[in-house]
Amino acid sequence: MDSNKEKLDAIIIGSGIGGLVTASQLAVKGAKVLVLEKYIIPGGSGGSFKRKGYTFDVGASMIFGFGEKGYTNLLTRALKDVNEHCETIPDPVQLEYHLPNNFSISVDREYERFIEKLTKRFPHEKEGIKKFYGTCKKVFNCLDSMPLLSIEDPSYLFKVFMKAPLSCLGLARWLPVNAGDVARKFIKDQELLKFIDIECFCWSVMPAIKTPMINAGMVFTDRHSGGINYPKGGVGKIAEKLVSGIERLGGNIRYKANVTEILLENEKSIGVKLSNGEEIYSDIVVSNSTRWDTFGLNDSVKGLINSDHVPNSEYKWSEKYKPSPSFVSLHLGVSKQIIEDSFNCHHIIVHDWDELENEKGVIFISIPTLLDSSLAPDGKHIIHAFTPSSISEWENLSRDQYLIKKQKYYSFLIGKISNIIPNLDENIEHKEIGTPRTHKKFLGRFEGSYGPIPNKKLLGLLPMPFNSTGIENLYCVGDSCFPGQGLNAVAFSGYACAHKIGSKLKINSFNLPD
Ligand SMILES: Cc1cc2nc3c(=O)[nH]c(=O)nc-3n(C[C@H](O)[C@H](O)[C@H](O)COP(=O)(O)OP(=O)(O)OC[C@H]3O[C@@H](n4cnc5c(N)ncnc54)[C@H](O)[C@@H]3O)c2cc1C
Repeated sequence: MDSNKEKLDAIIIGSGIGGLVTASQLAVKGAKVLVLEKYIIPGGSGGSFKRKGYTFDVGASMIFGFGEKGYTNLLTRALKDVNEHCETIPDPVQLEYHLPNNFSISVDREYERFIEKLTKRFPHEKEGIKKFYGTCKKVFNCLDSMPLLSIEDPSYLFKVFMKAPLSCLGLARWLPVNAGDVARKFIKDQELLKFIDIECFCWSVMPAIKTPMINAGMVFTDRHSGGINYPKGGVGKIAEKLVSGIERLGGNIRYKANVTEILLENEKSIGVKLSNGEEIYSDIVVSNSTRWDTFGLNDSVKGLINSDHVPNSEYKWSEKYKPSPSFVSLHLGVSKQIIEDSFNCHHIIVHDWDELENEKGVIFISIPTLLDSSLAPDGKHIIHAFTPSSISEWENLSRDQYLIKKQKYYSFLIGKISNIIPNLDENIEHKEIGTPRTHKKFLGRFEGSYGPIPNKKLLGLLPMPFNSTGIENLYCVGDSCFPGQGLNAVAFSGYACAHKIGSKLKINSFNLPD
């Protein structure tokens, strides 16, 4: 069954933020795009769902890249480019840590205030703290002073080098470096180094020694520069508005459109096949599915590419990177009275540093209704809490075993959250619990993983692949591409992907973006 009525320039498989930024940027350049999403709403891990008057964020709710100035504010830019805008609510604090040894600290939007608090706890590391976070700022300043497009495109590289030569050289220097190496250069105190580990882990799910310095520079500075800003109405608004922009520019999105195969002819991709047998053709195909799901890099999963045609480079990539664990997530609706208005929105709890990378070692808690009360009925708050959990913990269980395990994790999470929000258990009005199996099923992600993490210490971001693949006309976008996980990072990947395709289709504007 061939369903093409009109010629498409690009098919994008998946409506994660990476897929939507690619599609919207291509649409802005004049390309005719079709986004195929297997679920019923857009956004993937950056979407929102509604239940009984509550709007819950699926995953992401601490949002970077929503600033007004510079070049790293890619979410602001992606929306603006399609004449859309999200009203955002500035968060005065990125997050509050509750750490072993009675160490609690909140990361204020105001840089000096945060540095002062950290220095008060570690006065003997005053210089080291200044130098580490100061180096992060230097990395950020390089990134923020140049338009961010495809590093794979020589003409972009030439133009951006002419515009900002020092920033380009600065970035090239930090590309192969990890944050842990920089931290160890300036800091000796073991507890402070552990703190830098959790600072990285909370978005990279890796300790600092395996976290690329470029990403650390971005995160540790953007939170004080553009700041953390919550989109009014829920994180899913970003995806909804990108979809509106794509449609206004003549593109389309289809939901419940499950791509089961990327069609190849003469080793080139020529279109896709859906689970209903329908075939749709296009010169360009972009996969926003993970690399494991796209290429079937693990024996347990059939990829979208027939195994005879999977490029060797993909197997090599999967030797370097493994899927991070997934999460067990709780979405709660609770009585407003148990949370003070002055409570911070995002919290992280670690009870034992040695458990950092283990099952249930870290608890993430967000209460987005503290910023936007419209997400819950009157008199209620939302709590979204999650803890790392591997799919292997949840496989081969009978229905009863599965339910019992869910209940155990639920009680574990409620117990931990109650440490910072007392009287929780008796004030829950609505609850949902998702396991790694839920993440795998509803987000379409291999093992429900948060994303790729290095198998061993690597050279910073250098081994992360860009958007082109070993198959002609097939591109990848999203968190298994440079520069990795996070909404702003996948937006970067989307800009780069659309630029790379645009240079092939000769539809890129000559000038770099303002
Ligand atoms: C619990 C959790 C908390 C997080 N917190 C934050 C945070 O606070 N801040 C932050 O910046 N980031 C956070 N992240 C990370 C961030 O959400 C992700 O890195 C980012 O959303 C990934 O985007 P993506 O473009 O790679 O695609 P995804 O979000 O993975 O979306 C891919 C889409 O493709 C669809 N799809 C897949 N295969 C097919 C197919 N064969 N056919 C059709 N459609 C398909 C899927 O259904 C999905 O909609 C969090 C993630 C999780 C899970």
